Amino acid sequence: MDALKKKRGLPPPATALADPRQWSEKSQGSVAASFRTHYTDQAYRCHACRKEALFSAAEQKFVYEVKKTHIDVRRVLCEACWRERRAVQGKIAACEAQWAASKPELALDAAFLSTWRALLLEHHHYGARLNRATSNMLHKLLDRLVEAN
Ligand SMILES: [Zn+2]
Repeated sequence: MDALKKKRGLPPPATALADPRQWSEKSQGSVAASFRTHYTDQAYRCHACRKEALFSAAEQKFVYEVKKTHIDVRRVLCEACWRERRAVQGKIAACEAQWAASKPELALDAAFLSTWRALLLEHHHYGARLNRATSNMLHKLLDRLVEAN
């Protein structure tokens, strides 16, 4: 990563002062609390789209000291993918609510079932654990519909 940066002539990574006293209680109990004095820009590759992204020193300060996220938590998605993951999560929640409200009708609705299933797979692509129970149920329902037609 450093070699890459030099080649492109990027400025050196920015830093921000770290104040571990502002961390969550759990983070304060971590080893890092005894030596972390600064945050440094962290380049990483998005797990979903493989693009290079930056977790800036200023963002780290905000995330660990204001939002109290655990100090060991790293970013794995770029911002665009993170937003997409949240959007997909919202759509899945909407499917679940619809399902809870009108199961008998929706169990016969192939479009609904396949959309829901695609959302589960998309969510998984963004790093969420695959909801196998629901995915299997949708698969079975869809199979049954195909057989019935
Ligand atoms: Zn991405």
